Amino acid sequence: MIEDKNQQRTDLGQLGEFGLIEHLTQNIEIKHSSTLTGIGDDAAVLDFKDKKTVISTDLLVEGVHFDLGYVPLKHLGYKAVVVNVSDICAMNAKPTQITVSIAVSNRFPVEALDELYDGIKLAAKIYDVDIVGGDTTSSQKGMILSITAIGEADADELVYRNGANDNDLLVVTGDVGSAYMGLQVLEREKEVFKVNPNNQPDLDAYTYLIERQLKPEARKDIKELLKALEIQPTAMIDISDGLSSEIIHISKASGVGCNLYEEKIPIDPQFINVCEEFNIDSTTVAINGGEDYELLFTIKQSDYDKIKGNPNFTVIGHMTPESEGTHLITRANTKIPLKARGWNSLTENKE
Ligand code: ADP
Ligand code: MG
Repeated sequence: MIEDKNQQRTDLGQLGEFGLIEHLTQNIEIKHSSTLTGIGDDAAVLDFKDKKTVISTDLLVEGVHFDLGYVPLKHLGYKAVVVNVSDICAMNAKPTQITVSIAVSNRFPVEALDELYDGIKLAAKIYDVDIVGGDTTSSQKGMILSITAIGEADADELVYRNGANDNDLLVVTGDVGSAYMGLQVLEREKEVFKVNPNNQPDLDAYTYLIERQLKPEARKDIKELLKALEIQPTAMIDISDGLSSEIIHISKASGVGCNLYEEKIPIDPQFINVCEEFNIDSTTVAINGGEDYELLFTIKQSDYDKIKGNPNFTVIGHMTPESEGTHLITRANTKIPLKARGWNSLTENKE
């Protein structure tokens, strides 16, 4: 959508594989004492002493997980780091290192990869993680990006999906649904642009939603917040596939059921307006739309007073015996079974 005619184009072939790696990884600093050796040898060497090590990987494929028609490369790099950091945060661990692997076709000039790396490096700086390695290769078509995030935690701080108990409270950080509606707005503008490339979209009414889609943030702050409040969640997961799906994951892993209350689900006013504009039910999107990267966790009832009134947290439900199943309790007080990926258009071509 946004094109700069004066862009410089340096062919990837000009640098070659080693030249490219050197170019992309220049000026990368190591900040964590747990990083003994970073980029430059056959493998990175890390030392977490008496801490546990947490590792998570994601693979992003052009045309499946991202569309360079409207996702700027810098945002893509940033988001790719964020989604992995988010998985480390969802274990209640502290992210410390990442590795970055890319496969690109020669349709991309060096400058495009610089942009991608600007986003990766910015996220690494903001989330305070060392870039300690990766791999660089060519692809016949399109771009593939894989990031691995590594983190550390004390053994007794780690939170798994399987620790929720009957009567625990279900809590979510921030608000949900906006990232999905941001994607709807971007898809719509892409169609408009196809018809009339001179049309400059007016996106003022959608800034929050688009930011949630293009530049999501991981809740790295929550581990410290919970620690200060002396709360150890019983189970935790990050919201990548949608609230409904994540609730089912926690419930299944923990062997409990869950009641989610429609009226409690935190949503943004801009999100409500845009759902009306698109004629989509806001609750359906709030529970099925993914990519919010907020954290969803359960706590003991006795911890309720510690989070009551805290703007970072909303209690949205409670866990039940497994035999009761997982349900949404609507404003009209009807009970609807939760479905994982209940809405096919949300998940087409996505995994
Ligand atoms: P090898 O032949 O062992 O795979 P490479 O030549 O691919 O080694 O990589 C050299 C060094 O650069 C390694 O430390 C590797 O981890 C790092 N590296 C390679 N590609 C990237 C990348 N895209 N981003 C960050 N580090 C990279
Ligand atoms: Mg290699």
